Amino acid sequence: MTKPVILPTTAVLRSQLRVWRDARESVALVPTMGALHSGHLALVAAAKKRARRVVVSIFVNPTQFAPHEDFSKYPRSLEADVEKLESVGADVVFHPGADDMYPEGFATTISLKGPATAGLEDKFRPTHFQGVATVVAKLLLMVLPDAAFFGEKDFQQLAVIRQMVGDLNIPVEIIGAPTVREDDGLALSSRNAYLTPEERAIAPTLNASMRKAAARIRDGESFDAALTAARNKITSSGFELDYLELRDAATLAPVTGRYRTGLRMLVAARLGRTRLIDNIEV
Ligand code: AMP
Repeated sequence: MTKPVILPTTAVLRSQLRVWRDARESVALVPTMGALHSGHLALVAAAKKRARRVVVSIFVNPTQFAPHEDFSKYPRSLEADVEKLESVGADVVFHPGADDMYPEGFATTISLKGPATAGLEDKFRPTHFQGVATVVAKLLLMVLPDAAFFGEKDFQQLAVIRQMVGDLNIPVEIIGAPTVREDDGLALSSRNAYLTPEERAIAPTLNASMRKAAARIRDGESFDAALTAARNKITSSGFELDYLELRDAATLAPVTGRYRTGLRMLVAARLGRTRLIDNIEV
């Protein structure tokens, strides 16, 4: 396959898209912040099966980071990313500057309720989804792809985007792809690079504790008992827990009672300076 071309501005992206549209070629979009790993590459490979052309955006979006978060130290590796993308058939990498995405005088944001206010990530990152939704809306409207691909790794984000695309009638199919993991269960994340070797050894406890709790719930144990045991295990392993919750997979609303289908368990916890998130089907 040929090396994807880097398109650094909205204007050059638009010219490329016009050529593909004139040739009646289908287009898929995979939005990312770069520092690509196999999870991202799986999304791109799935996108290439769905559409003739694949645009991968790489943009570390400043508006989805709070001032105290890791925007400035977020890993950036454009050259290595482009090389990885060649092997999965990406056609172009859209890599705009912040001034192209947010020119002087930019004044519009997407305001969210529903899954964006479920009391999960939003509780700990109150401005995050507004930044995500606004940049994703911009990317979807710029590219107007036939389909756009997002990872289930960011499960609440996927719900927020589905809600937004439905509510705003953005004509694109949103496709969610399963979380890619290390052999020990740790969900791949660009932020795993922050972990010290000691933290990396502890990190799989997050997924293991959730899987154990899910099995206990499927066996008929109460939600509370299973979740409390998992919370205790996660905390005693050295994490500071933001949340571990069981929710309705479609609405992210809280659930009570006993096991049924359509449940999702979601977690966020901090290990040293690194914040990890994960979720599984129950
Ligand atoms: P990011 O660059 O981390 O914001 O992620 C870009 C896209 O890749 C998002 O749709 C993420 O949900 C998705 N993604 C990140 N990590 C994984 C993973 N381990 N498996 C599948 N998709 C992922």
